[in-house]
Amino acid sequence: MLEIGGLLPFTTIDYPGRLAAVLFCQGCPWRCGYCHNRHLLPTMSGTAVPWLEIMALLRSRCGLLDGVVFSGGEPTMQADLPDAIRTVKGMGFAVGLHTAGPYPARLLECLPHLDWIGMDLKAPFEEYERITGVPDSGAAARTSAELVRRSGVSHQFRTTLDPFLEEGGRIEAMQRMVEKEWGEKLVVQGCTLIS
Ligand code: SF4
Repeated sequence: MLEIGGLLPFTTIDYPGRLAAVLFCQGCPWRCGYCHNRHLLPTMSGTAVPWLEIMALLRSRCGLLDGVVFSGGEPTMQADLPDAIRTVKGMGFAVGLHTAGPYPARLLECLPHLDWIGMDLKAPFEEYERITGVPDSGAAARTSAELVRRSGVSHQFRTTLDPFLEEGGRIEAMQRMVEKEWGEKLVVQGCTLIS
């Protein structure tokens, strides 16, 4: 059963163009310094929202909401994500996914059932470890970004502009890659550093 650390019953900003609920999946393998969802980083919270409760809430919102977003944490960390996506899709909701791409194989499994993906890019791929604290995280993210680009699923690439990206021409290099090489838009979000 998917471990959900929290939910937002209604949002207009987490899934472009949709009224959506957000399910915050527990667990993330990375440790970005600016992470605002630290309570979601461990794989088990001890305060998970029961899946049956989530199903009941979504059933009560059928016809009122038109989308559900799986966010986190990192949703693709959980093996039960593809089944959960299929279930929610079967209820008639459009399904969105927020991911940073650490698990390309699971992302690939989810792609056929997704309607929208918001993928966070952390840094130039060769420097990911400086943000995530995890060796080889850039290789996984690169593979996931390729999958997203080729998927045919509507998507958005975005990044959080922390001081590291502002130095050394890094944000400019990312913009060149996404906008010039990939022909896509990179949405740049502000960053509030956590002490
Ligand atoms: S990938 Fe996202 S959830 Fe995971 S540590 Fe980084 S900012 Fe937090």
